[in-house]
Amino acid sequence: MAKGNHLFDCYNPPAITFERGEGAYLYTDEGEKYLDFIAGIAVNALGHAPKEIGDAIKDQLDKVWHLSNLFRVPGQETLAKKYCDALPWAEKVFFQNSGTESLELAMKCARRYHFGEGNPERYEIIAFKGAFHGRTFAAVNAAGNPKYLEGFGPALPGFTHLEFGDHDALKAAISGKTAAILIEPVQGEGGVRALPPECLRGLRAMCDEHGILLIYDEVQCGASRTGQIFAHQWVDGGHPDIMAVAKGVGGGFPLGAVITSAAAAKHMVPGTHGTTYGGNPVAMAAGNAVFDKISDPEFLQHVRDISNAFRQSLEGLKDEFPDMIEEVRGKGLLLGLKLAETINNRELRMAVQARKLLVGTAGDNVLRMAPPLIIGEREAREALEILRGGLRDIQEG
Ligand SMILES: *Cc1c(COP(=O)(O)O)cnc(C)c1O
Repeated sequence: MAKGNHLFDCYNPPAITFERGEGAYLYTDEGEKYLDFIAGIAVNALGHAPKEIGDAIKDQLDKVWHLSNLFRVPGQETLAKKYCDALPWAEKVFFQNSGTESLELAMKCARRYHFGEGNPERYEIIAFKGAFHGRTFAAVNAAGNPKYLEGFGPALPGFTHLEFGDHDALKAAISGKTAAILIEPVQGEGGVRALPPECLRGLRAMCDEHGILLIYDEVQCGASRTGQIFAHQWVDGGHPDIMAVAKGVGGGFPLGAVITSAAAAKHMVPGTHGTTYGGNPVAMAAGNAVFDKISDPEFLQHVRDISNAFRQSLEGLKDEFPDMIEEVRGKGLLLGLKLAETINNRELRMAVQARKLLVGTAGDNVLRMAPPLIIGEREAREALEILRGGLRDIQEG
């Protein structure tokens, strides 16, 4: 008997096959064209196959691919300097290959800090319901989503989960055991919810008061997606001690990083952490080239302008379909349509996909959009038309 598909069944992709991408568009092997408003889940910040990044990668491929961290990788030093120059509070960087790895290190770093300061009892990490931090053991335990924990043995100790926005619960949860508070400044998978600026400031003040480290997960909302290089830069006095990034920072090449204050990395001495692939020369070529583009003030202004315009048109769509769209959420080009109970986010995703627009979904019945940051008015208009068409298709049954 013939064997079936040899891939794990964790994903269930549609029958279409994308063969090529250019800018905000993807083309199937049958030549059909799709407008991509999910961009590999907020990864392809500069669109598909951007030439400058591809050229930087190809140049590096002709030189050296991999050294391990037993040897200096000059591209790491260059990129770490770029990140730290952009962030007044930042002093140290460690490169990883993915978001979940960066979260693992961010949490290790926080615990190790308190250990090094003579407070090993401070290991508890406070996180929030609806959060998403990746799929490795510590990451699923940090986020606490029961769906992602089921069947994987006992929950790891040292994590507390609070309702997003419950200030009293947060105050009550803080104790002499608290090592860190972990939060996404703009929650992605949980429902595309942006934390109000006063909350980031409040968290900062609370952490300072109790000697707690503040960890931001900017894996999805970083990399200029909100119109600042990193989302927390919208908020004066709302900076973290430790930040995990990935997704957009590699523009499609696997890359993650942990960026910290000098103090937070102080006890990460030789032997405390390591990686074979992290920060390899090819990833650094990609990361440096991506950063040079996305940190350009004109580029950031473009993201702000196009996201404001697109958001406004989504507000208009909400007024056109008040029974179907309850709220427009998110920040910059990480946007969500919170849908009414009468309509299912997956159903709308399929309806617009049939009309050749790719979008995502998020928790809380939200349709999630994270287009490449290079979209212009034409792509924004086209997406809006397709969304309108999809909503009508469902309305008319
Ligand atoms: C995607 C994501 C992660 C995990 O990143 P991977 O690269 O898939 O491991 C962690 N946190 C947030 C906020 C994410 O969106």
